Amino acid sequence: MKAVYWFRNDLRIHDNQTLVAAAKADSLICIYVIDEAWFNQTRFGNTRIGFHKLKFLLEGLENLNQKLQSLGNKLIVKVGNPVEEVKNACLATEATHLFYAKQMGFYESKEEEKLKAELPNLTQKKYLGQTLFHVNNLPFKHNKIPEVFTEFRKKVEKYSEVNKLFESPKKLPPSSFVEEITLPKIEDFNIQNLSSENYGGLIFKGGEDAALERLKHYFWQTEKLKIYKSTRNGLLGMDYSSKFSPWLAWGFISPRKIYWEIKKFEAEIEKNVSTYWLIFELLWRDFFAFTIQMHGKTPFLKDGINQIKKHWGFDPVKFEKWKNGKTGIPFVDANMRELNATGFMSNRGRQNVASFLVHDLKLDWRAGAEYFEQQLIDYDVCSNWGNWNYVAGIGNDPRENRWFNVVFQSNRYDAKAEYIKTWLPQLQNLPVEFAKKPWEAKPEQLAFANLELGKDYPNPIMVDERW
Ligand SMILES: Cc1cc2nc3c(=O)[nH]c(=O)nc-3n(C[C@H](O)[C@H](O)[C@H](O)COP(=O)(O)OP(=O)(O)OC[C@H]3O[C@@H](n4cnc5c(N)ncnc54)[C@H](O)[C@@H]3O)c2cc1C
Repeated sequence: MKAVYWFRNDLRIHDNQTLVAAAKADSLICIYVIDEAWFNQTRFGNTRIGFHKLKFLLEGLENLNQKLQSLGNKLIVKVGNPVEEVKNACLATEATHLFYAKQMGFYESKEEEKLKAELPNLTQKKYLGQTLFHVNNLPFKHNKIPEVFTEFRKKVEKYSEVNKLFESPKKLPPSSFVEEITLPKIEDFNIQNLSSENYGGLIFKGGEDAALERLKHYFWQTEKLKIYKSTRNGLLGMDYSSKFSPWLAWGFISPRKIYWEIKKFEAEIEKNVSTYWLIFELLWRDFFAFTIQMHGKTPFLKDGINQIKKHWGFDPVKFEKWKNGKTGIPFVDANMRELNATGFMSNRGRQNVASFLVHDLKLDWRAGAEYFEQQLIDYDVCSNWGNWNYVAGIGNDPRENRWFNVVFQSNRYDAKAEYIKTWLPQLQNLPVEFAKKPWEAKPEQLAFANLELGKDYPNPIMVDERW
C-alpha cells in the first residue's frame, strides 16, 4: 500500500489513530498544508492567521518533523490550497490510500468532500481524534446532540466512556519523497508582528514536546491541578488555568491523554473538585465540537445556531479601537492588548471583550469571532464559533442575556487592578478604582498620575450608566 497521510489538527505522534493506521503502509508521504486562504482579507478586514498563531504552528511543525524523522519518515509542508496540494501528492506518488483525521468544522468537511470527489479511486480512511469522547461512545447519534450543555454533560457522564490511548508507532514506513526538505519559517511570510516587549509572563511554544512538558508542569511538578477550580478565573500568568488549549487546538496533545493523566493524578496524588472540573471543562470542548459538526453552516452565519434574527451593525472605527485595545475601557483594552501581544487571553477576558463588542458596541458578532480566529494561538473552529454564538445570544443557550458589566467584572476579578496595570502601564499611578474607570478620575489625580486622557490613554468610546 502506497499511502499519503494528510496531517491537519492532529499534529502529534501519541494517541494518534490515523498514524497507527497509516504506519501499516509500505511507503508513506506525510504532508501538512498551510492554507493560503488564511492570509486573504475577510469581509471585516481580518485574516485567518496572525503572527503568534502562525509562529506557534510553525514551531509545532518543526517538532513534528523531528519526531517523524526519528521514526524513519519526514514531514512535507506546503503553502497552498489543501485540496489541491493533497491531491497532487497522491497523484505524484501514485498513492492507493489517503489517511487523515476528520475535522468538525463546515469548511474543513467540505475539503474532505472535495477530495473524495476529485480522487474517487483512492481509498480514503478518516479517523476522529479531536474529542475526548469518540462519537461512537456517545449516548446519542451525531445528529441528535442535546441542544443544552447540561443535558449533554449529564448523559455523557452517565453513559459514555473515554477510550484508552492508542500506542505510538515505534517505526514508520519510509517516505518516497527523496528531496531535501526545509520547513517554512516565520520570516518567509509577510505577516505583521503585533508583539510588544511585555509578555505578561506568558510563554507558549508550539509542538507535542512542549505540550507534554506543560502537562508535566501543571500536574506533577507544581500540582496546580489540585486548585484549578478556585484559580481558573484568574487573569495573570501561566498557572491560574491549565493553558492546554493552544496545544489541544492543533492536536499537539490529545484530550484523552489529559483525561488519563488526570485519572492517574487522582489515583496517586488527590482526587477533588478541581480534578473533576478540568474534565468538566473538556466536556465543554466536546460539546461545542459535536454541536458545530451537527449544525453545519449555520453557526458561521449571522443568525447563528438558533437562527435568531437580530439587527447587527458594523462600525469600522469602533471595531479598530476594540481590536487595538483603544476603547478607553481599561478592562477591555488590557485583554485585547494581551491578545495582540501574546495570542492568548483568559476565558474571563474573552467573555468580557466579546460581550462588550456585541452588547455594548453593538457590532456584528462575526467581526469579533473572525478577529479571535486571526489572533488566538488556541483558535479552534468549534470552541471559537460556538462560544461567540453563545455570547451573541444566537446559540443554544438557555440564558438569554449574556451581557457582562465590564467594570463590575474588573472589580470582581481584578480587584487590585494588577491585570489592568500590567497591560496598561500608563495607568500605573492611578488609584485602583480609577485605573478601572479613568474617566471618573479628578483632574488632580490624572495630573498626579502624569496621565492625560485622550493623549496618553484613549477617551472612553462610550460610558454606560450601569457600570
Ligand atoms: C468568545 C470566546 C471564544 C473562545 N474561543 C476559543 C477558541 O478558539 N479555542 C479554545 O480552545 N477555546 C476558546 N474559548 C474557550 C476558553 O476561553 C478557552 O478554552 C480557555 O480560556 C483556554 O484556557 P485554558 O486552556 O487555560 O483553559 P482551562 O480553564 O484550563 O480549561 C481546560 C480546557 O477546557 C476547555 N475549555 C474550557 N472552557 C471552555 C469553553 N468555554 N469552551 C470550550 N472549551 C473550553 C479548553 O480545551 C481548555 O484548554 C473561547 C471562549 C470565549 C468566551
